[in-house]
Amino acid sequence: MSSVEKVFQLKVLKEKIFELSKNFPGKNLVFSDGSYLSEVMIIGEAPGQMEDKIKIPFVGRAGRLLDKMLEFINLNRNKCYITNVVNFRPEENKKPTFDEILIFRPFLFNHIEIIMPKKILLLGSTAAHAVLYHEGPLHIVRGIWKKIDINKKHFNVFTTFHPAYLLRQPNAKKIAWKDLLVFKNCNDI
Ligand code: URA
Repeated sequence: MSSVEKVFQLKVLKEKIFELSKNFPGKNLVFSDGSYLSEVMIIGEAPGQMEDKIKIPFVGRAGRLLDKMLEFINLNRNKCYITNVVNFRPEENKKPTFDEILIFRPFLFNHIEIIMPKKILLLGSTAAHAVLYHEGPLHIVRGIWKKIDINKKHFNVFTTFHPAYLLRQPNAKKIAWKDLLVFKNCNDI
């Protein structure tokens, strides 16, 4: 897909997701950040209060930690593409429900197909649920490469902890940082 076509497809997708705003009254659409030309796509959970206000993913405390995680693997927001499973702030800032994940999954898969990343980094259990259909404990899929197919296109997917979890459980940072190195160093999957 040419970059002009990508921009067009992203605009169409954004408009389609915007139609879901009636299910999230008073909430803003938080679509993405970073470069749509990047080979690295990062998928979080859902916007929080700050993201809803600023309309950019990961701008709060968890976002600042995500920036540090990216820096550790020589990335920054201009060198990757960041989005969430759910693009509106869920009710009372809760974790997205199964139904919400189900509603947003086709849009997320469409998003992945447009970006066509070489590597996808999933942050936490909601992203693992949406992309890998994994509903069990995170440790089963964390730290390992998986392959997914979307309309016969193959994508390499790696899962680590969500930065918000790492803020609550700083002891897990050591494991997350090891994960990040595996994610960074594997270019030949
Ligand atoms: N947590 C997420 O998963 N996404 C955001 O955009 C912010 C916090």
